[in-house]
Amino acid sequence: MLEKTKLLIGAYYLKKPIFAQIDELFQYIQDDGTITKENLTPIQIQFLEEQITKMKESYLQLEKEKPNVVHMTQEEFYQVFQNMIDRFYEEFNLTCERPNIQIVKHFPYPFEKANFKAMNFNEHQAQKYGCEQGIYLLEKYTAHGISEIMLAHELMHAVIGNRTPKEEQTSTAPFFEEATVDLLGLYFLLKYHFIDEICLQNWISFGRGNCDERCIGSLYFKEAKQMLWILKTGGIEEVKRLARKGQGFLAQFDMKDYFDKMVINPEDETTRKLISYYDYVFTNFNLNVTEYHVLSQLLQIEDGKTLDELDVPNMTKQELQNTIDQLIKKGLMYRYEEKFYNPNRAISDTIRITL
Ligand SMILES: [Zn+2]
Repeated sequence: MLEKTKLLIGAYYLKKPIFAQIDELFQYIQDDGTITKENLTPIQIQFLEEQITKMKESYLQLEKEKPNVVHMTQEEFYQVFQNMIDRFYEEFNLTCERPNIQIVKHFPYPFEKANFKAMNFNEHQAQKYGCEQGIYLLEKYTAHGISEIMLAHELMHAVIGNRTPKEEQTSTAPFFEEATVDLLGLYFLLKYHFIDEICLQNWISFGRGNCDERCIGSLYFKEAKQMLWILKTGGIEEVKRLARKGQGFLAQFDMKDYFDKMVINPEDETTRKLISYYDYVFTNFNLNVTEYHVLSQLLQIEDGKTLDELDVPNMTKQELQNTIDQLIKKGLMYRYEEKFYNPNRAISDTIRITL
């Protein structure tokens, strides 16, 4: 197994997550687990190194406590995937042909170098790219707790695809469909206990839930806010009902047409959990690594300090001043009569970090 994959597994099983966007961090981690340091500031490098240490520890602990999680064979993976398909299709009473799942070394042309962990090719796309229809998982990132999340998302695309007449199929999925498949996929994973819940919480926190504007996942997540609202008011059955309507419907879905249709209030345990995981991430502060660095150095200044009294490693006074200004704007520090204050003793868990 690649060192990078071990770190990835470690990240998903972290008991105290890092709240930094995982795909963003992994762009700078090479297959052997080392960091590509070009274009990174010393503070970013330090942050990455700290996170890598945590991921390593988490992986080693998992390997000790649950070796079967770490060392799953391909046959075992296919068995889990089969069970997932059965459950997901049962939920929608689908008796149609099941999607083909393949663990591959490379995605089909022209996506050989794409930086995804999984892809789904519907009939329309398979024809366009001349490949086999179905779901592809990249072998090097196949890991229990991660692959299931990717597969759940793609499986839900397949379910929606199945509910969509061919003339309504689009070549890329509408964003609202992405939010729908994310949410339903996670719901079924939780409901049927396919993975450790910590992996799911981590995925929401530092996978989807922490994408910045540059990342396509941030669009999915914005749509997820609307979807969450539907889940809160209409329950999981309402989300399923929308999914059943297919891609064409989801492509032109408009929340405004929907406001007065909400009547029921959900409550099953799984829905409650999923809502709380999403809500948690939606209420987080967003910081970059430099702001995080300064904040962590300047905790617990109860009596106030002037800029000259403050010293943060790796920063000039001017950089420090600018960063403190940002933190003040975000409401995480305050200034009074030229003194800076931060009465907090710990960095709040509700912080999300981008490099
Ligand atoms: Zn998708």
